[in-house]
Amino acid sequence: MPGPSSSPAYDAVVAGASFAGLAAARRLRGRVLLLDRQAIGDGVTSACAAPRAIVEMMGATAAIQQVHDALVIHTPRGRAVWPLPEPFVTFDYRRFCLTAASGAGAEFRCVAVLGREGRRVRTSAGTVEARLLIDATGPRAALAGPLRGRRVAFGIESEVPVSVEPGLHFHFVPEIRDGYAWAFPCGGATRFGVLSYRGRTKLRPALERFMARWGVRAGAVHGGYLATGWTSGTTGDVFVAGDAAGHCLPLSGEGIRTAVLAGDRCGALAQRVLDGTLTHAEAVAAYRAFVARSRRRYRGLLWANLLVLGLPPRWLGAGARWLARPRVRGWFFRHYLGVMREEEGRSDATAVPSQATRRRDESRIRVPQGNGSHAESR
Ligand SMILES: Cc1cc2nc3c(=O)[nH]c(=O)nc-3n(C[C@H](O)[C@H](O)[C@H](O)COP(=O)(O)OP(=O)(O)OC[C@H]3O[C@@H](n4cnc5c(N)ncnc54)[C@H](O)[C@@H]3O)c2cc1C
Repeated sequence: MPGPSSSPAYDAVVAGASFAGLAAARRLRGRVLLLDRQAIGDGVTSACAAPRAIVEMMGATAAIQQVHDALVIHTPRGRAVWPLPEPFVTFDYRRFCLTAASGAGAEFRCVAVLGREGRRVRTSAGTVEARLLIDATGPRAALAGPLRGRRVAFGIESEVPVSVEPGLHFHFVPEIRDGYAWAFPCGGATRFGVLSYRGRTKLRPALERFMARWGVRAGAVHGGYLATGWTSGTTGDVFVAGDAAGHCLPLSGEGIRTAVLAGDRCGALAQRVLDGTLTHAEAVAAYRAFVARSRRRYRGLLWANLLVLGLPPRWLGAGARWLARPRVRGWFFRHYLGVMREEEGRSDATAVPSQATRRRDESRIRVPQGNGSHAESR
């Protein structure tokens, strides 16, 4: 692995090669350096359930293990089935990352990002410099540094070769009173997990008790923090996407979809800066506006999360059944799945020509020649 002490030659450095980082890298052309402290596809933290459209967008359909048409919400007072308006899938993380990375033209280096000075990124193998920086390093935001306003939950899970009924199962059970447990089937196996909204980390006993309901024990366990908070999405002129920016959703803990959509958007905007059709400042403003447009939906989910934490368990069952009604459910999913989804181009400041475009156009203004004809001025 090369470890230059200084090389200012990159158009963009993307720190973090998971959901957000790979989505950004897939949008970038030119000299792009992708950094991660682990090999691509190593270090899964997630239960890997996401809308099929998101997996397709990353070119990773080969990683799909099982398709799900419903959420099943279990409470101590029974269960409610919420048919999904679009299919979700469970997928294999390593295969997803490797396939998505093969569609990006970036150079990859397995190094730890330690921080930055301006546009110089300090890594465990020296310093690299780039015109544009994207932080997609997850909850710790290793490049941008901690952003204000983030909140963290914590979750762990274990995959075991046992089958459960199809669907994505969420359990609000006594084993984990400040969060929920899940059972996500993924082909011939199931991912069982528990999450604490308050960020409690000693969850193994709760996971074991939950899995004992199926008569199974946890094998290898992985997990980590989930960062919510919906920060502005930039620090100085660094783009920040995914959990690094607090883009994981409250209530559900879903963060793959938002990481991919945010990474995709900042990668697209960064590419426009490299192409010269947006200035850096315009791209930063457009990305911040894109993030801000979903803030109201984020807040709605945060309130729902607080409600779930405060409600007596017997009311949760009634709430889940009420939400299962087609009209209420339709409204909920429109709100929920609408986060960060919008028409391409709306947030790219395309309606108004950018400063960069204006400057380029002005330099091409036709000036009258002596004979009355026109010529390009450059
Ligand atoms: C147990 C659990 C289950 C979950 N299940 C789901 C689920 O089923 N569906 C869902 O939508 N969401 C789920 N989430 C949330 C989801 O995993 C995250 O929101 C998502 O992974 C965020 O993606 P990301 O690309 O922003 O960050 P991450 O996936 O965390 O990736 C960050 C990358 O940066 C790298 N990195 C970190 N620090 C450094 C450094 N200093 N130098 C170099 N590289 C670094 C890491 O190695 C990693 O590759 C779950 C979370 C947990 C903890």
